[in-house]
Amino acid sequence: MTGSNLPKLGYACAYAPLPLIEAAGFAPKRILPLGDFPDQAGRYLHDTLCPHVKKILDRAISNDLGDLKGMVFINSCDAMRRCNDAFRREGIETFFLDLPVTGGERSTARYAADMRTLYGDLCELSGLAPDESRLSEKMAEYGELHDLLEKARTRRDQGSLSAEKFQALVNTISALPAKDAAAEINRVLGEAPQTPDPKAVPVYLFGNVFPDPLAFSMIESCGARVCGEDFCTGSRFLAPMQESEGDAFIRLSRSILEKPPCARTLDPARPGGIGQDVLKAATDAGAKGVIAQFLKFCDPYLARMPLIRQALKDAGIPLLVLEGDCTQGSIGQSRTRIEAFLEMLKDA
Ligand code: SF4
Repeated sequence: MTGSNLPKLGYACAYAPLPLIEAAGFAPKRILPLGDFPDQAGRYLHDTLCPHVKKILDRAISNDLGDLKGMVFINSCDAMRRCNDAFRREGIETFFLDLPVTGGERSTARYAADMRTLYGDLCELSGLAPDESRLSEKMAEYGELHDLLEKARTRRDQGSLSAEKFQALVNTISALPAKDAAAEINRVLGEAPQTPDPKAVPVYLFGNVFPDPLAFSMIESCGARVCGEDFCTGSRFLAPMQESEGDAFIRLSRSILEKPPCARTLDPARPGGIGQDVLKAATDAGAKGVIAQFLKFCDPYLARMPLIRQALKDAGIPLLVLEGDCTQGSIGQSRTRIEAFLEMLKDA
């Protein structure tokens, strides 16, 4: 069966083990909170819950997920747990993978054991015999895919690929098997590069879920160059794969847990680490300012924001915080604030 003919399994989190899903005989398909659908998530979920979760549930209720065999949900936060429950109530088969809150050897072993169980369950659904060497092969493919996406990201950071186009590329490949995704990245890398605008202001963007290419286009049209970015729906969605010998589940676990963390993951040895991480990433990217884009009601990011704000303030790097709700309108309303922020950076 070719990649495009594989049965599809949905996912909605950057911590989903994509090589494992493919090794079990499925094409992973990211379900993004994009599009206009009737607001029906309130049947199951409270109104003041993460708009990411509500939007993908609206898509499910509107039968907009295509021909999915099921969803793999990651226990990343309480909103995701509730989303998993709601999908089941809608009659969609779900697989729920526990995700450790911290890194370290014990977490790596636990996550690996849970992934082994998930692999067995998914293989039972597809009818394939579980095979660890198949998982290793898929990990190698995803490692190459990560490295290829890094090339596109570097072009974006340097201004020779627009942030709008980069985001459209990420959205496309997040719904494709690794080999098809690699072909798509190569196609974009083969296009003529755009000429960087020397007057554009370099800004670093970060946050949780920000998948709309038109939102990046709007930020660029205000005079910004995205010189670095860290979103669950952006360049962070792929992990570099650990190539060493040994248990494939342990290597996959380590690869996923050691990639740049989102705010729901903690390093107990560095409780304020996320502030320093954002500062370092913005400084390394040569940013003149930082734009944080969060979804409303995302407790993990709201809790970490004071640490990030303080780290950037101490370093004298200006910060603009925007709050979104997965609608084009919410970023459109921020245009004036973004323009004023960029004007201030130009004069700085
Ligand atoms: S955006 Fe925040 S609340 Fe929503 S799924 Fe992600 S971590 Fe959870």
